[in-house]
Amino acid sequence: METANKTKTMLVTGGSRGIGAEIARLAVRSGYRVVINYANSAEAAHALVDELNITRIVTHAIRCDISEEASVVDMFAETNAVFGPVDVLVNNAGVTGGFAKVCDVTAQTLSDVMSTNVIGAFLCSREAVCQMSKRTGGAGGAIVNVSSRASQYGGAGEWVHYAASKGAMDTLTLGLAREVASEGIRVNAVAPGFVDTDLHANAGDADRATRLAAQTPMGRPGTSLEIANTVLWLADDAASYVTGAIVAAAGGR
Ligand code: NAP
Repeated sequence: METANKTKTMLVTGGSRGIGAEIARLAVRSGYRVVINYANSAEAAHALVDELNITRIVTHAIRCDISEEASVVDMFAETNAVFGPVDVLVNNAGVTGGFAKVCDVTAQTLSDVMSTNVIGAFLCSREAVCQMSKRTGGAGGAIVNVSSRASQYGGAGEWVHYAASKGAMDTLTLGLAREVASEGIRVNAVAPGFVDTDLHANAGDADRATRLAAQTPMGRPGTSLEIANTVLWLADDAASYVTGAIVAAAGGR
């Protein structure tokens, strides 16, 4: 999807790999300047910056564990210094914590998953609202949360902890959308189904997306580009009357 947003700034959390990297690529093709956030994958993040900064500087990588408040504050300050205030925040970074039934899940796993998927998304949203809000002199903007269909299915037998974190993200989407609508900020979410990224292999089941997607109406996993297209549409003025929506991009699941 090509848009006229030639000078808008998008910050993609977890932009180094998988769905986030595809969102960054599509955003650059759509005319955004993009901050690519990463926590550990410095090599991948900087390779993506090199791939996208072909003729001019349109991307900038920032290392930040989004669960660390001071680091998030610094990331938004650096974004402002490099590309100006954020126009679009994509809360994409996420971890599953691996497979565990509720009777086995550890407090450490719960803390890790909630710290990134919930607290990280809240902290980034807070900083984005501060830069975007028309109430405090900002230009408005859009926040797109990358949730999961797991929030509706519950993740039984695999990762209820992960599904619950995405349930919290859905509630953040609904509540924040209503809270900041009058400040010129739209807040929406995309809820992917099974997408073939490293997320599944990192949880210990590389074939998971293909195997489970075979049981869905479309019978195949989604691609990162299909999720990125949905994110870019929600970010764009084409979705100017859409806020508080959780859009399933899940092949009918
Ligand atoms: P992925 O390939 O595992 O990539 C995850 C990204 O999140 C990486 O860039 C990683 O950066 C980043 N990240 C993790 N913890 C972070 C932290 N504390 N601070 C900053 N960045 C952090 O996963 P993916 O499949 O692309 O998933 C992207 C989003 O889509 C996630 O929110 C996921 O829950 C959601 N989703 C995925 C699927 C699917 O089937 N793949 C389905 C539904 C929803 P580093 O490598 O630098 O650590």
